Amino acid sequence: MKNKIIYLFILIALTAGLSTLPSCQSGSGNKTAYHALIVTGQNNHSWQESTPILKQILENSGLFSVDVAQTPKTGENMSQFKPDFSQYDVVVLDYVGDPWPEETRTAFEQYVSGGGGVVVYHAADNAFRNWVAYNQMIGIGGWGNRNESDGPYIRWKDGKTVRINEPGPTGNHGPQRAFQVTIRESEHPITKGLPKIWLHAKDELYQQLRGPAENLTVLATAYADTAKGGTGGNEPVLMTIRYGKGRIFHTTLGHVMGKGPFPAVECVGFIVTLQRGAEWAASGKVTQEIPDDFPQFNVTSRWPLFRPMNLDEILDQLREYKPGDNRMPEQDLTNLLRGQYNAGTFDEIEDQLLKFIIGNGSAAGKNYVCRELSLYGSENALPVLHKLMTKEPDVAEMARFAYERISGEYSN
Ligand code: ZN
Repeated sequence: MKNKIIYLFILIALTAGLSTLPSCQSGSGNKTAYHALIVTGQNNHSWQESTPILKQILENSGLFSVDVAQTPKTGENMSQFKPDFSQYDVVVLDYVGDPWPEETRTAFEQYVSGGGGVVVYHAADNAFRNWVAYNQMIGIGGWGNRNESDGPYIRWKDGKTVRINEPGPTGNHGPQRAFQVTIRESEHPITKGLPKIWLHAKDELYQQLRGPAENLTVLATAYADTAKGGTGGNEPVLMTIRYGKGRIFHTTLGHVMGKGPFPAVECVGFIVTLQRGAEWAASGKVTQEIPDDFPQFNVTSRWPLFRPMNLDEILDQLREYKPGDNRMPEQDLTNLLRGQYNAGTFDEIEDQLLKFIIGNGSAAGKNYVCRELSLYGSENALPVLHKLMTKEPDVAEMARFAYERISGEYSN
């Protein structure tokens, strides 16, 4: 008997190996569409944390292979920093620091004006106040001793972008918080199909940025509430800029400082707009679909792994979950199940949920899954729920609720 089981196991392993072999060998099938270069190495933020995150986000789209060009440390000799921009479809700027050598600045200007793509990420718009072409590329920036001589403030008012020529501080933000992002240009490839308003996870809301703002399109703004340290205006948070033939996507979002978790860059809204913005900068088009769990106007949504978690990963977290725990796997489960239900594929995963609720998990996790089953479950769930009603006191009440709702016995 034992031998028979071992033989069967080997047979299964061999079959599985054979069936995956061809796809492993055809590596060319995994070739990415675009090459991206992240420039980093100095920043008033934790670039050692943010750069690997940006790399992961771009790679997770399946569209990019990503290299990193790291400058010397602050104050060290920069003369040999000469990345070959021409090898890339898009350059992602995660850098605030010492000036690059003139040769490198010229090469970057030629790369962009010749049709290269650029992503300006968060504090990169603090860099290089005195580099004229750079400021034309970022459109608007802040800090770095900028003032009214650097250009007007840019805000959204009365349905359009306005330029405000007045003196005042340049670049600041109130306390970090979750805030709504409002799409202002919904026909642009980057924003097409996104919810008009979505709740961005806790981040800095940059305000009072200014600059030349030539060939600049405001894609999205956030309202900087005066009660929360804001200007009372609609501040640009996502923009595009044309520089020669080059395409630039500028996001002010994504504060990363210290040790994680970093809600600003785990936000599905940040991740998806970065991926779409990078694809547009590289190619002028966007082919990526918008995920079902994109944040809503009143609900944030986060991907701690910078991609959607699969059901096994979510259930693993829920198994350990206790009320008051920092992470909220419930929200991930709700998002995933809603997506499966809308796609008509909930039946395929119901068995996994039923195994979970009769397995060894926390009562809080099981209660949550029962609650979700009450919404989406089929009659297949009834025997398992009935067992919980009689055998597991900590889960019995929610199991009964789900049972009655699925069987149609429930009324309120
Ligand atoms: Zn920041």
